[in-house]
Amino acid sequence: MNLSQCGLNTITVRSLTLPEVIDQAQRREIPVISPWRDIVQAEGVARAGRLVRDSGLKVSSLVRGGMFTAPDASGRRAAVEDNLRALEEAHAIGTDCLVLVCGGLVGRDLPGSRTMVREGIEALVPAATAAGIRLGIEPLHPMMVGSRSVVATLGEANDLVDAIGSPQVGVIVDVYHVWWDADLMAEIERAGRRILGLHVSDWVTPITGELSSRGMMGDGCIDLPAVSAAVRAAGFDGPADIEILSDHWWSLPADTVLDVALERFQACV
Ligand code: ZN
Repeated sequence: MNLSQCGLNTITVRSLTLPEVIDQAQRREIPVISPWRDIVQAEGVARAGRLVRDSGLKVSSLVRGGMFTAPDASGRRAAVEDNLRALEEAHAIGTDCLVLVCGGLVGRDLPGSRTMVREGIEALVPAATAAGIRLGIEPLHPMMVGSRSVVATLGEANDLVDAIGSPQVGVIVDVYHVWWDADLMAEIERAGRRILGLHVSDWVTPITGELSSRGMMGDGCIDLPAVSAAVRAAGFDGPADIEILSDHWWSLPADTVLDVALERFQACV
């Protein structure tokens, strides 16, 4: 894929500050960034917003809101309040999309946990609508149902979008989480213009950590061109964000990671 369609998710080069990410993006002609909340907060939200606006870069999304599941009502309320702050941060940095990692299992109650997710998103919809920010439900690989997301397939995410019934809510297709799904292509088509983001990396084994085992595009077994073509055919015309959470790639200098990532983006996505 051409670099004009490239987004850089900041976690890929997590040793960098926001100004350093912006500098790298400008020098390497990456037109879009996707920051995680921690580096926005580290900079100070207002200053982060000024830096991004002055840079001329686009921001595909803020990562991440969500984590709606909690054992008690006060925990769930606190989650919604934290998401309201995330909407303010998203507005400050000039993006119209907040990525949602929905939250893991509470107790052994999978249906109840999924209800908490739906209610949490519904509680956010009025503020998101007022702010003009869309909420992107990102299904996570089923190995993370217990810890991070009871929404594990794109089909479930599409069902959730249907159940909530707001144009403000859509889905994120992160290839690392959904590549294995026999229904993936059909669910991408079903999602259509409700696809709000595309995240790319690769699946390499062995998995050495639930959160930090992602591979570089081209090093694993995901048919990246097929998935990205399907997402494009469904009507998504935004960037593909490079999002590599990896102990291996985090151990290398950011310049090295970006050299390889941009070459692979053009050759393999
Ligand atoms: Zn992602």
